[in-house]
Amino acid sequence: RRAALAAERHLPCETLDRHSVILRANVATAADSEAALRAGADGVGLLRTELPFLEARRWPGEEQHAAALAPVLRELAGRPVTVRTLDFADDKVPPFLAGAGPDGRIGRGLPLMLARPEAFTAQFRALLTTGAGTDLRIMIPMVAAPEELRACRELLRAAAESLGVPVPPLGAMVELPEAVDRADELARESAFLSVGSNDLTSRILGLDRRDPAAGPAHTAHPEVLRAIGRVVEAAHRHRRQVSVCGDAAAHPLVMPLLIGLGCDVLSAAPAALDEIRARVRRLDAEACARAAHEALVAGGVEEVWAIVRRRCSPAL
Ligand code: PEP
Ligand code: MG
Repeated sequence: RRAALAAERHLPCETLDRHSVILRANVATAADSEAALRAGADGVGLLRTELPFLEARRWPGEEQHAAALAPVLRELAGRPVTVRTLDFADDKVPPFLAGAGPDGRIGRGLPLMLARPEAFTAQFRALLTTGAGTDLRIMIPMVAAPEELRACRELLRAAAESLGVPVPPLGAMVELPEAVDRADELARESAFLSVGSNDLTSRILGLDRRDPAAGPAHTAHPEVLRAIGRVVEAAHRHRRQVSVCGDAAAHPLVMPLLIGLGCDVLSAAPAALDEIRARVRRLDAEACARAAHEALVAGGVEEVWAIVRRRCSPAL
């Protein structure tokens, strides 16, 4: 089966009725980047940068960032590469930040970083230098308010100016309910939006993200879908692309709904890309849109799964 799916790698990621979906990869290592290219990814939709620093004893400096990034970016010259700034939130807290949040819960990665602008600046400088050969975009995690994004932009602008390089596109992740509420302002001020469905699903459902009831299949919960629908509308109102880079992008019962809601980009682990493409190629975008429409007013997540099974016949 794997070989059959891989055989479709060179074919476009588009539905039966010719609706194109951009397929990108979530990466963190050089091996991930190589696997992403092998799997025919258009580029990287999420490069997680915090992983090398989860045991760090202090904020990483510019050189440490550059050393970690260089191997991951090496193969990606000329490609769209969306690098996410450090996301030390909740489940990803290095020792030097432990206890920084109330009740041991951080969930405040961004305010924490904005309180240490030199930490942001070090990462921006490393990104601008190391990512110069790529079609670099920078993405901020855990954004709650446009003011935060603006503060990031000022730091990025200053870093670019000091290096004499252009300011790359800056986008916001939408993974907090507060960001959904202000999606229109965020869209206006961002080059793109990316839905972090892992965190967004758990936050909207009021669950810990390790709870199986907040897993990727549960992004199909009508309340979560309504939130994603609002984000897509806001983004498209301002002619911005929306991507989904949480695990729901690879879930067979959710991905058709994401397409139906109008998400432009799906970003997933390299190992998931062949299957996503093959599934997209067997879907009808019109049917996905009807399914999404119905799902938005469904009574619960199980009802939504049934709608997808009935309307999108997602079997491979
Ligand atoms: C998410 O929250 O959906 C996401 C993509 O980021 P992470 O899983 O790294 O929190
Ligand atoms: Mg997240």
